[in-house]
Amino acid sequence: MVNALPHADARSTRPAFRLRSRQRRALITGGAGFVGSHLAESLLELGYAVTALDNLTTGRRENVEHLLGEPSFELEIGDVVDSRLTSALVSRADVVFHLAAAVGVKLILSDPIGSLRTNVLGTESVLRAAHDCRVKVLVASTSEVYGKAVRLPQREDDDLRLGATSLHRWSYAAGKMLDEFLGLAYARLGLPVVCFRLFNTVGPRQTGAYGMVVPRFVDAALCGEPIYVYGDGSQSRCFLHVLDAVKAIVQLERSESAPGNVFNIGSTESVTILDLARRVVAAVGASNGGCPSQIALLPYADAYPEGGFEDIRRRLPDISKIRLLTDWRPRLALDDILRDVIMARAEALGLTEVTGEEIREWNARPAALPAVGAIPAGL
Ligand code: UDP
Repeated sequence: MVNALPHADARSTRPAFRLRSRQRRALITGGAGFVGSHLAESLLELGYAVTALDNLTTGRRENVEHLLGEPSFELEIGDVVDSRLTSALVSRADVVFHLAAAVGVKLILSDPIGSLRTNVLGTESVLRAAHDCRVKVLVASTSEVYGKAVRLPQREDDDLRLGATSLHRWSYAAGKMLDEFLGLAYARLGLPVVCFRLFNTVGPRQTGAYGMVVPRFVDAALCGEPIYVYGDGSQSRCFLHVLDAVKAIVQLERSESAPGNVFNIGSTESVTILDLARRVVAAVGASNGGCPSQIALLPYADAYPEGGFEDIRRRLPDISKIRLLTDWRPRLALDDILRDVIMARAEALGLTEVTGEEIREWNARPAALPAVGAIPAGL
């Protein structure tokens, strides 16, 4: 579909990016990660050959174990910052999905230098190789770049407002902003580059180890442990199912008008974090013997004793730009997301008695929601 979006200022006289009649090969950096592994599955289904590059820090072999027998799939263990390896892999690809990144607030705060190296130098390495080989690139960015911007819903051309450099949380957003600048600068040279900002994306295979709230709440609820809501719980987010995110990425890749642009990809179903906790407890309560977890409010200073944290009050994407171009919109609601995450986490934790039917039944009942608990002593 052709639309009114502006193309990047293509100044290069070199030939357009490659299109070959044989099976198209996609390189997914971060291909064993949470989003990358779902994207790999989707591209294989669409007939692509897929190379997944991953250093297995936050990505996991188990995420793609089931694909390893596929003749069209290969997993390359390596670092996206290694420019020789990146160049070799990019030169064999028809399109690159650059998803490799250090993500998760807890990881960014615990390894700020390593995170910045991966998130900035890795992207530079991919874009330089893609430019040399004339290969289209889709660069994953994040809603974090909006920072503390107060205007809602958030639009791609809004001003971006980050916090002080002494608060390391913002290093992730700053790194991703640089990635977008780099991508758009290469687009001006004629390289087809599409940047997309993923808003809170959730689904099976995401772990709570690096701070992501939904799997953390689900794990706590499944284990009957307290759920810690940071601050007063009135901060809000919109959670997108990873399968919807992957559909959006694939549609952007197929759009001839997308290069040279930045797109929001997110859900517009807003929920406060306190309500999220209540919904998780209600959904899991059906399956863990009716002994729901307590919800406790935890001050930020206790949640992040190392400091460097500042929360974002509200996040809500304007998705009209991607809708105009591709007609994409999220199909799965928060209840679908919670059902899928609960099933996946229950399986990962060895709690196989949880069934989708039980969760659906519980969701259909009038909610008997647990009260907010006190902060446990010692925290
Ligand atoms: N959060 C929480 N408890 C947790 C983890 C996160 O209350 O165990 C809150 C966090 O402070 C934020 C929201 O949940 O307000 C979303 O956090 P996440 O790290 O998943 O995403 P982001 O902050 O990047 O939107």
